[in-house]
Amino acid sequence: MPISATSAKPAQKLMSADDALARILAGVPALPEVEVPLLDALGLVLAEDVAADRDVPPFRNSAMDGYAVRGDDVASAPVELRVVGEVAAGGFPDRAVGPGETMRIMTGAPMPDGADTVVRVEDTDNAADIVTIAAATPKGTSIRHAGEDLKKGEIILTKGTVLRAAEIGLLASDGRAGIRVRKRPRVAVFSTGDEIVDLDAPLGRGQIRDSNRYTLASAIRAVGAEPWVRGIVRDSPDALRAAFREVVAADAIVTSGGVSVGDHDFMKPVLSELGTIDFWAIAIRPGRPLAFGELNDGDRRVPIFGLPGNTVSALVTFEIFVRPALLRMQGRANVSRPRAKARLTEPVDKIGTLRFFARGIHDPDAGTVRLTGPQGSGILRSMSLANCLIDLPVGPSRIEKGELVDVILTEQPPA
Ligand code: AMP
Ligand code: MG
Repeated sequence: MPISATSAKPAQKLMSADDALARILAGVPALPEVEVPLLDALGLVLAEDVAADRDVPPFRNSAMDGYAVRGDDVASAPVELRVVGEVAAGGFPDRAVGPGETMRIMTGAPMPDGADTVVRVEDTDNAADIVTIAAATPKGTSIRHAGEDLKKGEIILTKGTVLRAAEIGLLASDGRAGIRVRKRPRVAVFSTGDEIVDLDAPLGRGQIRDSNRYTLASAIRAVGAEPWVRGIVRDSPDALRAAFREVVAADAIVTSGGVSVGDHDFMKPVLSELGTIDFWAIAIRPGRPLAFGELNDGDRRVPIFGLPGNTVSALVTFEIFVRPALLRMQGRANVSRPRAKARLTEPVDKIGTLRFFARGIHDPDAGTVRLTGPQGSGILRSMSLANCLIDLPVGPSRIEKGELVDVILTEQPPA
């Protein structure tokens, strides 16, 4: 069959990946600030400075199960003290501890007045009325002071902080049931292509399963956004137009396929009609074609990322362009993955004019990196086996074994 005139690739100026990313980061809007329940805030960016409402802990308490004593009484041992009471966590001492006296105390229980030291139960005979302290214990031992974690009025977390488990815990100990953060983006994701079928449909001749929607929805979730998983959209302008109209309420839209210049790639005409969109040829492999732009939903701008259809290209372009964009929309200052230098254990051939993101296995102990095997842009296993992308610059067409290269640490090494 003759190749039609429209499928011949027009000469297109290549854009560098850095330029494309800079334009994307400059183009995406910061999402609004919202109040969310504390348990929904993990991974989000704090939108307020938080000052402690009270001292944490709120009262002086014991760090051990043992005996609350006056330090002067236990400077040397053994010594016998009279047990005048007991206080458990959640209780409150009903009297003070005088010279020669002690009170049994549990971890977290308020310290009785007069006592300034706790002797661990292991350092006593644990007797009921007259207890023998077996070990001399320095004054102040095993006491937790009021406000030693958080001081009332002190700024404990600043605006811009990414909330991890520890920060969520700090906010809980300060009694914050809800907290102001930058919104978690809701990201619509759909696949395009006449050959694509979903997982529950029989696979007909010439058809393939939709993997991209699952890959991308998962990558969206992994970056802390909420995937809004849509369907498979056929290669027709009407179907695409309808699909985009249905998702204007999203905070961002990610699609795969249809951004090349094949006969059935209708993203360009449809998106040019519905919003502002650029179609770029980026000087990278995999993932040369990329569409970036926005739909307008009233005053809101909804960024669109049209990723290429090849399975590796879709995920690599998500990693390089969409992941940083979704992080920036959430208010993250740092949107980069950590990087390392490593020595190649094998030579790698590439196209000189393109930056090559090879899928690699980085061994941080040996300081080496190797390829995951065949690097075709449809070989998704090359990503599954990888713990990094090897970032090989424009210029050379071969990188020799033993050369020091840059690696992007995408995930923890597979176990
Ligand atoms: P396209 O970018 O639409 O030209 O597609 C490029 C290649 O990626 C073709 O081989 C498609 O069959 C394949 N492809 C497109 N979309 C998907 C998808 N959702 N899942 C798996 N492969 C896809
Ligand atoms: Mg297609």
